[in-house]
Amino acid sequence: MKTAIYPGSFDPVTLGHINIIKRAAAAFDRVIVCVMVNSKKDGGIFTPDERIALMRKSIQVENVEFDINYGLVADYAKRKGARVLVKGLRAVSDYEQEVQMAMVNSKLNPDLDTVFFPSSEKYTYLSSSVAKELARYDADLEEFLPREILEDVKKKMKKRSDECDDCQH
Ligand code: ADP
Repeated sequence: MKTAIYPGSFDPVTLGHINIIKRAAAAFDRVIVCVMVNSKKDGGIFTPDERIALMRKSIQVENVEFDINYGLVADYAKRKGARVLVKGLRAVSDYEQEVQMAMVNSKLNPDLDTVFFPSSEKYTYLSSSVAKELARYDADLEEFLPREILEDVKKKMKKRSDECDDCQH
């Protein structure tokens, strides 16, 4: 059974992520989408559990599972018996960092390889940060986020900006 891990922040999951998850699910027997909590970008808006709940709401595919990991992805993959990491590549700007990470991960775990999926053209410009910024201004998010989570994201961003207003007064 070929297991692949798709690691990321997913704060929150976007249509760009969903596109990669579906393509990975078609290419591998089992895909574990894993919220990584050790990354530099930590301190997200949604808690790891909330991010998982949003993903579960957005996508139900038989061979896709969701998990949270607080350590190194190279060790996590070993524990899960996975030999492949899936990454999405949006632009050349993603490439440099992702290739460096792939090399580090294969040093840490020589059995582990990284497979890149080029972003679908529709989602090349899309990141969780862009979606959050737009949600803050109540913009139309249908082309960015799964329909099932639109309200959750808007509600969260509204709560955050209300809290911020309070703390300024
Ligand atoms: P971000 O916060 O930038 O959206 P994540 O850490 O959640 O990033 O992303 C996890 C993985 O998904 C990374 O490999 C990233 O390159 C990829 N990814 C993110 N957005 C997209 C997109 N719109 N299209 C393709 N891949 C993406």
